[in-house]
Amino acid sequence: MDVLKITPRGYCHGVVEAIRAAKQTAKAHPGEKIRMLGYLVHNTHVTDELQANGIELVDSDNRLEGLDRIDSGTVIFTAHGVSPLVKERAAARGLNLVDATCSDVVVTHELVKDLAERGYDVVYIGRRGHPEPEGVVGEAPGQIHLVQDPQDVDALDIDNDKIAVTCQTTLSIWDTASMIKRVKDKYPQTEAYNEICRATQDRQEAAVEAARDCDVVIVVGSQRSSNSRRLVQVVEELAHKPAYLVDTAKDIRPEWFSGKKRVGVTSGASTPTQLTREVIEFLEAL
Ligand code: SF4
Repeated sequence: MDVLKITPRGYCHGVVEAIRAAKQTAKAHPGEKIRMLGYLVHNTHVTDELQANGIELVDSDNRLEGLDRIDSGTVIFTAHGVSPLVKERAAARGLNLVDATCSDVVVTHELVKDLAERGYDVVYIGRRGHPEPEGVVGEAPGQIHLVQDPQDVDALDIDNDKIAVTCQTTLSIWDTASMIKRVKDKYPQTEAYNEICRATQDRQEAAVEAARDCDVVIVVGSQRSSNSRRLVQVVEELAHKPAYLVDTAKDIRPEWFSGKKRVGVTSGASTPTQLTREVIEFLEAL
């Protein structure tokens, strides 16, 4: 197979910083109870490695519920961020707090908080059940409206001259533009703040561009990873090429390449470089 290595791909600055913070914490507190409140970043292999470093995973889609299982020691907040209520409860419990929230997510928290304080209703485009929206909506629950699909926008009933729309950092650029337009069509006074992070935008644009010259695209990343799944989505929807999400080279099926000459390879922002390298080597040997 002719293998096209799509760049940029792989780790973003937020993931690198979160992993560094978690490993430094483990090193600084040997023998102490250290837990990550959810997956530090959405990659199974990174999580396994952190657990091997003595950081226990408290696996809960709801951060407050997860926190209820931690009564002492150190808790690490993941790169996706947490709501102010989670921070308050953790502090009240006397836990040692390590906040590994990505700086790009922090910017969104500050934005929605500021808008809410200034009397805006904020329409927030995000995926239900993902920890990032849970944290952001928690900044001002009564004033932030989580919408995932066009139907959610149609169902909005906001009576306010001041409306803003913003979004989760790892969504599809194209879907989000269309959702923002839908909100503005419904509420012309809406101010738009596109918060898709640079890393997500660059990886999506590169994947779509490269996919046009490929027969098929492999995205290396975990099912949990929003930005990895969006890479599959944008390749399929924008470049009209088949795309497959694999955790490792073991997930690859040779039949995907029958009659195909060129495969593009990219990876999500939380995928370790080694896994992508193994996938590339596997494909080159096909
Ligand atoms: Fe931060 Fe974007 Fe990376 Fe998420 S994908 S950790 S928001 S830089």
